[in-house]
Amino acid sequence: MAEEKIKKRSLTPEQRRILIKKETEKPFTGKLLYNKETGSYLCAQCGNPLFSSSTKYDSGSGWPSFWDVKSDKSVRFQEDNSLGIRRTEVLCKLCGGHLGHVFPDGPREKTGKRYCINSSALSFQKSNPKKRKKL
Ligand code: FE
Repeated sequence: MAEEKIKKRSLTPEQRRILIKKETEKPFTGKLLYNKETGSYLCAQCGNPLFSSSTKYDSGSGWPSFWDVKSDKSVRFQEDNSLGIRRTEVLCKLCGGHLGHVFPDGPREKTGKRYCINSSALSFQKSNPKKRKKL
């Protein structure tokens, strides 16, 4: 199985609660909610690049929000009917870890999508300053 080849990182209890048990972190508590640095958001479990800082926006929801994924290798979707609500779950395409949900109320001038993602499912990788354009 391809999944066995994935190098999984060890998780904190909070990360396990989100990524494996599919729970949701308390809104307005996530460490990456207000992060405005330039870089990539990776899966905290396997390092798969999931989102770019260029698509992060403040949705007011209390969770890190993005209007697009990084690539077609980033995530997969699954219907979620828990809590009596029909939602679309977002999972890491590489390791299957639970990331959050996607809703159709994102910025209309972009994709119209809102990827509502738990901070604890993500790790942030600052982009290399040497690669940045000099002013
Ligand atoms: Fe992953």
